Amino acid sequence: MLGVSGTARWITHARAAETLRADRLFADPLAIALLERMEPEVLTQLRENPTPRFDVLAVRTRFFDEYLRRASPQPGRRQVVILAAGFDTRAFRLDWPPDTTVYEVDLPEVVALKEPFLAEHAPPERPCHRVAIPADLTRDWADRLCGAGFDPGRPTVWLVEGLLYYLTDAEAETLIRQIHALSAADSTLALEHVNPDTYRAPWLKDWLREMGEGGRPWQSGVADPEEWLCALGWDARVREPSDLAIARRRWVPRTPPRTVPGVMRTWLVVAGRRPAPAARETATTTRKESR
Ligand code: SAM
Repeated sequence: MLGVSGTARWITHARAAETLRADRLFADPLAIALLERMEPEVLTQLRENPTPRFDVLAVRTRFFDEYLRRASPQPGRRQVVILAAGFDTRAFRLDWPPDTTVYEVDLPEVVALKEPFLAEHAPPERPCHRVAIPADLTRDWADRLCGAGFDPGRPTVWLVEGLLYYLTDAEAETLIRQIHALSAADSTLALEHVNPDTYRAPWLKDWLREMGEGGRPWQSGVADPEEWLCALGWDARVREPSDLAIARRRWVPRTPPRTVPGVMRTWLVVAGRRPAPAARETATTTRKESR
């Protein structure tokens, strides 16, 4: 896999590395099985040289695991949508309430690799109903999701992890608007993003250039995620990795308070869909009634 779809493999390295640790924050046996099959030399390296370089990804994974564990058992929420799922195996490794459907969307080349692998290696007993959807999230993914059984009339638990900075600002905003349009009342959204100062950090310059040359450019960011999401219809609670208690045990860069400018930041966000404004609802109802 080349370009941006190849980044899904890197996350598998991180999840396998975490699974090998005695003090692991989660266990992802399918990540190990995937590496065994696709990159056995990487697995050998991880076994021989445990490294803290994946700590931020481990903390991020655990953060979103906890979000899904909290959000999905709420009454009425039986649809979960993981956008840009990559080789995410939460459909298998988390406990889901009965009758939950987990939809996973990613580019066709990722789905084409993941599905045969899971057919061979995933445990036969499934904790949820899982539906994989090959689609480009900058194109017609919403129609494909609805065509696969997703019901926009029911509350949804959304997750967008490790994607938004690969999109342009306009694409990221369009995606959040589309998610909102598909979200019934009581839907919830978790996402990861970065701030624009990330692109000015001198120590990231070479890495960002290499990412661009490899066809996986980081290209967007938001300075104020609460304000950004509020304008798009979501009430957000935002953390940075070093704010989390689990980060204290790990090698996670400590960031100063948000009032300090010029600092590269990663946003870990959990948001709830804002109710439609009553005034607008009333106006719409009145218009409908007068027809
Ligand atoms: N969310 C997954 C995780 O945390 O394990 C994977 C994260 S990986 C860094 C980025 C993923 O975004 C890749 O699987 C890639 O294929 C997917 N992706 C990037 N651009 C996409 C697009 N336009 N449409 C669908 N998926 C996309």
